[in-house]
Amino acid sequence: MADRSLVETTWDVVVVGGGNAALCAAITAAEKGASVLILEGAPKPYRGGNSRHTRNFRCMHRDPLSVLTEAYEEEEYFRDLLVVTKGKTDEGLARLAIRESEACLPWMEAHGVRFQPSLSGTLSLSRTNAFFLGGGKALVNAYYNTAEDLGVRAVYEAQVVHVGIEDGRFTHVEVELGGETLRIAGKAAVLAAGGFQADIDWLARAWGPSARNFLIRGTPYNRGVVLKDLLDQGAESIGDPTQCHAVAIDGRAPKYDGGIATRIDCVPFSIVVNKDGRRFYDEGEDVWPKRYAIWGRLVAAQPDQMAYAIIDHKSIDLFMPTVFPPEKAETIEGLARRLGLPVPALKQTVEDFNKACREGVFHPTELDGLATEGVAPEKTNWARPLDTPPYYGYLLRPGVTFTYLGLKVDETARVTAPEGVGDGRYANIWAAGEIMAGNVLGEGYLAGFGMTIGTVFGRIAGREAADHVL
Ligand SMILES: Cc1cc2nc3c(=O)[nH]c(=O)nc-3n(C[C@H](O)[C@H](O)[C@H](O)COP(=O)(O)OP(=O)(O)OC[C@H]3O[C@@H](n4cnc5c(N)ncnc54)[C@H](O)[C@@H]3O)c2cc1C
Repeated sequence: MADRSLVETTWDVVVVGGGNAALCAAITAAEKGASVLILEGAPKPYRGGNSRHTRNFRCMHRDPLSVLTEAYEEEEYFRDLLVVTKGKTDEGLARLAIRESEACLPWMEAHGVRFQPSLSGTLSLSRTNAFFLGGGKALVNAYYNTAEDLGVRAVYEAQVVHVGIEDGRFTHVEVELGGETLRIAGKAAVLAAGGFQADIDWLARAWGPSARNFLIRGTPYNRGVVLKDLLDQGAESIGDPTQCHAVAIDGRAPKYDGGIATRIDCVPFSIVVNKDGRRFYDEGEDVWPKRYAIWGRLVAAQPDQMAYAIIDHKSIDLFMPTVFPPEKAETIEGLARRLGLPVPALKQTVEDFNKACREGVFHPTELDGLATEGVAPEKTNWARPLDTPPYYGYLLRPGVTFTYLGLKVDETARVTAPEGVGDGRYANIWAAGEIMAGNVLGEGYLAGFGMTIGTVFGRIAGREAADHVL
């Protein structure tokens, strides 16, 4: 039998979810004096959803700030966002997220988050991205400790299955907890339960059957139950269900929760072929932080949703070491056999590529313009022949990070209601994090922006919810 105080209390703010956005909202609301309940669907060791996998957030700053070097101002940040989203963003909300990110960093530090200088080994992010000391897990733990100190109640294995709304006003949530379905009442709700990427059936409905071959990089608990419940009740949606953040990851990763360790960063220094042994895209289009997010989609479009990144000995130390060792062979033929690729086709692809490489200066940390000539697709940077054994190969599969279909919100993070309800918004429902990220991420991804969205809108949602109640 669940603790009766949960159902006997009318909470000021009920926060659904238990990741970064939820915690930022809960802390902010509690600091304003609200009684706050966090309902986290995962068991305690898995609390923190996708946020516990993160490493950094992208932060605007006019001068050096904490671990961040130089300056990274609004216009540059916004331009970077426009490039990856191809303009599919709500400019007002995007600029709000960017501008507010500057105040987030000191707020995060004041609430227990520690930062470290940006990691070396990949292309440098020290100016744009602040790295969490101990990663997202440490961030999440620090926030739970802070929330607890503020009197926030967190309940684990509490799956919210329905958000009760009457006349455009949130009244209660229905929660599966300890084998019971409880009705928990609240005066305001912050929905921060993530996207739907862990619901493979939903992904397959959006993407087609190929989605069943996708790997889910993050938590298995983000199944979009709350998002679907709201959409079923007529809440306005934003974003395209077929858009998501997907990277190409190690094809040997577990189906769920493989996290950051399954990433493979060698694409710019490799050739990438499909299972027919053919190249299909410019591997040297851009540096890792800006371009790695498109490779998930590219691999998803290949037969059986598989691809293979192939490098030679010259490149093996140029990227972050991988958790699982690559396949290795002294010859391209041997590597093809180890990877299960057609030997003549791979040999031909490598020969054609090598012939198209030109003399020039190779510069691994910047766009070096060392491009191929006369091969399709061309490789526009870092094109060096594969000629130095041993050769290495990684199986790649699409790894979904998060989905973009979400709840439409305004600049106060309030959720947009169906036409004719209230003033066009629910009276007392706010949303933050992945569940509304589609407002600013219509397409593509900018490394570190997920945590920016969650932190900025989490804080706004917590503030607004508390102000509404108190
Ligand atoms: C491997 C990996 C690495 C990443 N690295 C970065 C990075 O370095 N920088 C960055 O900015 N972004 C990164 N991201 C993206 C980032 O994780 C997200 O954008 C961000 O964490 C979203 O925060 P959130 O609070 O919205 O969701 P989450 O942190 O996923 O939290 C959602 C929570 O809701 C809970 N939940 C779901 N459904 C229910 C329900 N029905 N009832 C109750 N609770 C429910 C889940 O258990 C979970 O705790 C990464 C993602 C992954 C997977």
